[in-house]
Amino acid sequence: METGWATDPDLRFFGASGGALSGLLLHLLRSGEVTDVVQIAAAPGNPIANSTVISTSRSDILNAAGSRYAPSAPLAHLEELVNSGQRHAFVGKPCDVVALRALANENVNVAAAFPVMLSFFCAGVPSETGGRAVLTALGVKLETVARFRYRGRGWPGRATAVLRDGSERSMSYHDSWGGILSKHGQHRCKICADGTGKAADIVCADAWESDTTGYPVFDEAEGVSLIVCRTALGGRILEGAVAAGQIETTPFNVAQLAAIQPGQRERRRALLARLLALRLTGRPVPRYRGLNLWSAARQNSYLRNLKNFFGMLRRVFW
Ligand SMILES: Cc1cc2nc3c(=O)[nH]c(=O)nc-3n(C[C@H](O)[C@H](O)[C@H](O)COP(=O)(O)OP(=O)(O)OC[C@H]3O[C@@H](n4cnc5c(N)ncnc54)[C@H](O)[C@@H]3O)c2cc1C
Repeated sequence: METGWATDPDLRFFGASGGALSGLLLHLLRSGEVTDVVQIAAAPGNPIANSTVISTSRSDILNAAGSRYAPSAPLAHLEELVNSGQRHAFVGKPCDVVALRALANENVNVAAAFPVMLSFFCAGVPSETGGRAVLTALGVKLETVARFRYRGRGWPGRATAVLRDGSERSMSYHDSWGGILSKHGQHRCKICADGTGKAADIVCADAWESDTTGYPVFDEAEGVSLIVCRTALGGRILEGAVAAGQIETTPFNVAQLAAIQPGQRERRRALLARLLALRLTGRPVPRYRGLNLWSAARQNSYLRNLKNFFGMLRRVFW
């Protein structure tokens, strides 16, 4: 686990945090490790929504850099991609990568088509209503928006709508994600056990500075990504990207992780209480194995577990 950023200044600036994911993708393309990249970018007809794109150049990767806090379906054209005969790097949410990895473990053609899987820490995907609510708060109508960025252009960067008349409206990450988007999370994400991309080769995240109380500081700064190599392949790719000058890294003290990612820590601790509420009300519950949900729940106070339990009951009944 290290911190780092893309040495390409545009990728670092337009990337969500340090542009490390984009820098790694560029290295994968330039080194010939893959022929293209399957990733997400703004949907052509709807600036707050997403579509899946196939990137083959630096400008394609730059165009897709930055987090887009709206639903995405990077596995939508899976069959076509597997049959294309190309070697794709895949970027998806942790849940997308878990699904792709499971399929690749069973099907050699899928494994051959997707030799590299990348992901990012994910706190949950807001529905498109979240993006609409941001526009409403900015006082603009969707039809007048030419382009929309959820963040990036700095770190964390502002949620910015560029209108058809060329003017811009924007709000801080704290207001857009903290005040609006995070409240539009989908039910499936509330019961997700893997916000940290356990099945990916490499996962990137925000390497926030934390304040004296240990909580992340969202002041604008030059972007820094946390880079987690989860497989030997991931480690080799990062080493290659550093040697090729695409990525610069600095050491990271793993003991700081929980402090700069309190959301990820809390969601794992809350999970058992939420699943229990679903089970008791006869709702479908995913089967999770090997994720130590009991010991995570024990790290939460009795009161916090109760709060999560009743919170889920409230979501079920109201
Ligand atoms: C819904 C969501 C929730 C997140 N929650 C957290 C969190 O809790 N903690 C945390 O540290 N980081 C979180 N992130 C990740 C964070 O915003 C950055 O993506 C991460 O820090 C990597 O930054 P980067 O500059 O290295 O990546 P970049 O170089 O900016 O590359 C980002 C990559 O992600 C892809 N991408 C963007 N949006 C989506 C999407 N909706 N679905 C699939 N792929 C997408 C892009 O195509 C691009 O390849 C979240 C991101 C998303 C989209």
